Amino acid sequence: MKNYNLSELKTKLSELNQMIVLFGAGDIGELSNYSLKKIGLKVNYFVDNDKDKHGTERFGIKVLSFEELIKLKKDTNIFISNNYYSSISEELKSHGFTNFYDCVELLNNTDFNDQKFQSLPTPKIGRRIEYYKHMCLKDEYNSSKALHIKNLDVQITERCSLKCSNCSNLMQFYEKPVNEDLDLLFKSLDRFIECIDEIDEFRVLGGDPFMNKDMYKVVNKLVSYEKAKRVIVYTNGKIIPKGPNLECLKSKKVMLDMTDYGVVSNNAEAIIKVCEENNISHSRSITTVWQDCGEILPFQKRNEEEKKKKFIDCCNSDTLSLLKGKLYRCPFSANAENLKAIPLNTDDQVDLSDTEISKEDLKMKIKNVVYDKDYITACNFCNGRDYTVKKIKAAVQTKKPLPYVRV
Ligand code: SF4
Ligand code: SF4
Repeated sequence: MKNYNLSELKTKLSELNQMIVLFGAGDIGELSNYSLKKIGLKVNYFVDNDKDKHGTERFGIKVLSFEELIKLKKDTNIFISNNYYSSISEELKSHGFTNFYDCVELLNNTDFNDQKFQSLPTPKIGRRIEYYKHMCLKDEYNSSKALHIKNLDVQITERCSLKCSNCSNLMQFYEKPVNEDLDLLFKSLDRFIECIDEIDEFRVLGGDPFMNKDMYKVVNKLVSYEKAKRVIVYTNGKIIPKGPNLECLKSKKVMLDMTDYGVVSNNAEAIIKVCEENNISHSRSITTVWQDCGEILPFQKRNEEEKKKKFIDCCNSDTLSLLKGKLYRCPFSANAENLKAIPLNTDDQVDLSDTEISKEDLKMKIKNVVYDKDYITACNFCNGRDYTVKKIKAAVQTKKPLPYVRV
């Protein structure tokens, strides 16, 4: 990360009258544009790798391609407003740019409370900024001994109240979905917590976590860890929480994150009402399209460079997941292995339930899976999740589990 003093930078940029560009026209781009506007600086262009955005306007500002960016003057001030600070800054350096920055200081010094944003509901802003900061700090975390974890998906069931034919977590392939074994889960979580220094978010999901009547036991356990800042529970707007599964949501550490898929999320309104009546922190994102990444492909013959690119460009390659006592780099790899749809590679996972592994060794193994991977075996069977992956209608339902090939 490039450190800077915001007020000095503001003075410098105001005086020099150089061009300002935001690299990333997504949610962090929108927030950073707002922050810059607040301190009196005007953004000239967005740059984005998504071809669909090129030549369009986002938040009232024209979006350029990378090829157009490199034709700009080399003293252009570029704020990297997406999750790929380290790879983009290297690329900018190689093209002779010298003035590039992360948006951390900017975002830290802005009050977003009174403003509505197109790309993000207000309750998600703080979490999104924390995630962005973690991504910017990745290199520093990597070189330090400390283990700071952004988030861990804790999958507590394979069962879902919906059956989306393109679920990116692969729930559509489970013929006999089961809940997690809580004893194994709690032992694994205890060992994980023992090894790390802090975690921003535990994310409780499934399938639909409310399909597991014991969800509250997991939420209460996660809340009790001092090293954990927040616990997010995901819902698809189908099941109205009640009993202990409602009570556990009342903790100040917990937030309910609803993805509302329209007609199929038929209890979305009722769930919001329950949250409001019980003072439960919540957010709702209306989702009509998503990326086409819910398929297990046959083995894809990709060379080293192609594999690395698939992994580094994937927006899910840092979504650590815990399933059946094992820590994985992404939910696709966790579920594809659980389904026995890809070959086992023990280097791509950490068996947190293995009591033979000492704490120090376990810490090293976690660090290796979290920070030291160029790609994982599962990427050979995955469509990837980058900006080039086509968008399809979200949450199209299937009646029966879908067939797939076991290895
Ligand atoms: S995408 Fe659909 S099937 Fe997958 S977990 Fe969400 S609601 Fe369930
Ligand atoms: S398998 Fe690889 S490409 Fe697919 S979601 Fe995981 S990290 Fe991304």
